[in-house]
Amino acid sequence: MKVKSPLEVYKFLPQTNCGECGFDTCMSFAAHIIDRSVKPENCPPLIKDAEKDPKIKKKLDQLIELTSPEVAEVVVGKGDMAIKIGGEDVIHRHEMTYFNPTAFFYDVWDTMSDKELEERCSKVIEFKKFYVGKFLTLDGFAVRCTSNDPETYRSVVKKVAGYGKPMILVSLNPDCMRAALEEVSEEKPLIYAATESNWRDFLKLALEFKVPVTLRAKDLDLLKSLAVTFKNAGVEEIVLDPVTEPLGEGLKGTYERVINLRRTAIQGEDKDIAFPIMVTPIAAWLMEGDEVEKGYWETVLGSLFVVKYADVMIFRSLEPYSLLPLVTLRFNIYTDPRTPVQVEPGLRPIADPDEDSPVFITTNFALTYYTVESDLTSANIKSWLLVLNTEGLGVEVSVAGGQFTAGKVKELMEETKIEGKVKHKILVIPGLAARLQGAIEDETGWTVKVGPMDSGRIKGWLETNWPPK
Ligand code: SF4
Repeated sequence: MKVKSPLEVYKFLPQTNCGECGFDTCMSFAAHIIDRSVKPENCPPLIKDAEKDPKIKKKLDQLIELTSPEVAEVVVGKGDMAIKIGGEDVIHRHEMTYFNPTAFFYDVWDTMSDKELEERCSKVIEFKKFYVGKFLTLDGFAVRCTSNDPETYRSVVKKVAGYGKPMILVSLNPDCMRAALEEVSEEKPLIYAATESNWRDFLKLALEFKVPVTLRAKDLDLLKSLAVTFKNAGVEEIVLDPVTEPLGEGLKGTYERVINLRRTAIQGEDKDIAFPIMVTPIAAWLMEGDEVEKGYWETVLGSLFVVKYADVMIFRSLEPYSLLPLVTLRFNIYTDPRTPVQVEPGLRPIADPDEDSPVFITTNFALTYYTVESDLTSANIKSWLLVLNTEGLGVEVSVAGGQFTAGKVKELMEETKIEGKVKHKILVIPGLAARLQGAIEDETGWTVKVGPMDSGRIKGWLETNWPPK
């Protein structure tokens, strides 16, 4: 995106504040273009005017160009389950944010028995890990054609489509790919892969079935030339696979190719290769060694390329020791560094509290909140937990920065009507907010007790401090 401020976008808008876009003002709409929650095409008057007036059409095209991400965005799948890959604007996360988390696809193959296929698909579907207020999940299936038989592949792809997740269809054989696409092209799978030897057939398939296509080549000049050919022929949704080699010099070369692609796309502004990048950590399974070693190395490769700069990856291992680090790392890399992760402020009852239960307070920084909430819940401590809006900052920082104040604590207590829920007037504040004890007492008229520094010690603290003497 070449424009960085709402004011720059505003200049291109009708400036009538008509509200048809769902926002009260054009400036508010402009701000949402910058944060990528809307597109210029979501302004109906602008579209209507552009249809009538070539000058406005030119202006609209210019705005679309200026607000498009540096790396093209590709959609795989359809409906609610569709995922976006690519669409990035920066090399380093801290320069703004990354937008579309690396998509994780897990392989299944068409020579599996029905039972094996069902078990493996179910594992992918059912995996979820609760982390900082969100369920971390896996994105879809990479269905490999190992039979080399179009009808076998067609039938298995159809079964996998029944699970409703996005798919990558993996076959270099155009006949097998055609059979699969005849069955599931409506699901908008990503096809994998057009190479130096089969690209003509794959170009026809991508155009005929209107599906995104992966181009695969180790030589970046060849990869670029394939991308230009596909683009000029009218294929807009392209993914680039610069070939993943798992070890030694091969891995070094893979790393360099991935970095080179992303830098050339963003810093070099080369639109011919500004497409999402695919990396295949599953290549670790081609190495010597036992299954644990291969799964371990696949996870290492996945972690490396989540950080730099894979937009979509194919994996095999569904062991928890592979999945947990990968989904957690991805979550952390793709959170927006401009906005702390936060939860709704308010009052949370824990373990069915009553009027004698203690009242705790914490901040709405998600990591702090979920730590405290989980410590109280896992120890089954009947209590009331007040969650203060500190703009997503932790206790120590918000006390120092003025987001955790006695005045705001009083407001929260009034809003949540905590006084009517308990028959005592004792508030327990975090140890890290001890210096606010007197001020909160003065402001609220409650007795303030200083709890432990670490919410994991609340249980022990209550043994000597609750009920109050
Ligand atoms: S629809 Fe367009 S003109 Fe109307 S408020 Fe939104 S941005 Fe402004």
